[in-house]
Amino acid sequence: MTTRLPSPEDRVARWNRATMALVPLAGAPAPLVLDRDTRETLAEYVRPDGVSGRELIDAVEAADLRGRGGAGFPTAVKMRAVAEREGPRTVVANGDEGEPLAVKDRYLLRIRPHLVLDGLLRAADAVSADRAVVYLSDALAEDSVRTALDEVGRTAVPIDVVRVARTYVGGEESAVVRAVNGGPALPTDKPPRPFESGVDGGPTLVANVETLARIPGIAAGTASDSVLLTLTGAVERPGLYEVPLGRPLREHLTVPSAPQGFLMGGFFAGLLGPRALDIPFGFAELRAEGSGLGCGAVFVLGPDDCPVAAVADVLAYFDRENARQCGPCFRGTAAMAEAARELADGTATDARLEKLRGWSQSLRGRGACATLDGACNVVASLLDEFPELVDRHRATPCPRCAALPAADRTAPDIDPESEES
Ligand code: SF4
Repeated sequence: MTTRLPSPEDRVARWNRATMALVPLAGAPAPLVLDRDTRETLAEYVRPDGVSGRELIDAVEAADLRGRGGAGFPTAVKMRAVAEREGPRTVVANGDEGEPLAVKDRYLLRIRPHLVLDGLLRAADAVSADRAVVYLSDALAEDSVRTALDEVGRTAVPIDVVRVARTYVGGEESAVVRAVNGGPALPTDKPPRPFESGVDGGPTLVANVETLARIPGIAAGTASDSVLLTLTGAVERPGLYEVPLGRPLREHLTVPSAPQGFLMGGFFAGLLGPRALDIPFGFAELRAEGSGLGCGAVFVLGPDDCPVAAVADVLAYFDRENARQCGPCFRGTAAMAEAARELADGTATDARLEKLRGWSQSLRGRGACATLDGACNVVASLLDEFPELVDRHRATPCPRCAALPAADRTAPDIDPESEES
């Protein structure tokens, strides 16, 4: 399976302009996971003591640890669901990181493999797992993890490493299970969910790499309430930062001139206008504003960037990257991508705009995975957050969008509502 990530030629990459400057993260917690830039060896890793077994699940619940892969689901709930079922049980460290705007899982696997393995083994112990797996797509991360396993030697449960090609959908938890079981890294219909029937048919905890990296600190009672933020776009210093959960991004950023907007949660949680700077950067707070923290990736659109063009770019990406398994998804992303392109070049009719608005609601939940929901989020957020810009843009496209080649008017109309695949 091949994947096409945004290349330097993509407009996604060309949004990157130095219009914002980062300042030191005032008030940020002492970094727990981002404290080095070279690979940590076993001799350097300080393994904290702490609670274990079911007490660890209680501690994870008390810490309100939520999945850092995108869904934000309570980790303790997933752990209990696996622990309470008959074995054989498996825990998978999910480091596929298909989201094109995120780098945190690769950082952790490459630089702090012992922290991840420690979290994985503690989670495996807590749910009484028989087996553990590190699932990844990055070659350097694989080398780092394999070296770490050689350093550790024998572990309490066997740990396998499974590497797949990097795709947007390969990290979805049913795709993870399918790939570990020897199939393609593609999502399956739910139920069953992995905790019901996962690796080798047994209950399986699929946990994001950052989620697991938080567990040693939680076990020891030293965890900080922080999140890894991959910051890209119109910023002076794009990169990976550890920031406190629940504090506005404005506390960490200097904005010399007004940004146009923010792509939240990578390509998944949609666009927010400049008000994003004042919303506490947390799971509940962003959800309450119709957005999301997702995998912690934020892309900043600078003053010269165009939210309409950004949405057209993201939808074109989804149109390329969806797994083409579910009719509503591959037809829906294609239809929405085409309509967004018409919005960008100023040729979208009123009827087309209303169709696009309708699809962004009616297609939700219609795919085997959340990719289609991500496409819907991006469209709905553009129409809700930037209504005047959309109207203005339809009348007079911005210079950047006006320079785009005209959309293909010979393509047949697509009916995303059809269930045919
Ligand atoms: S929803 Fe889309 S991306 Fe997900 S499995 Fe179906 S076709 Fe593939």
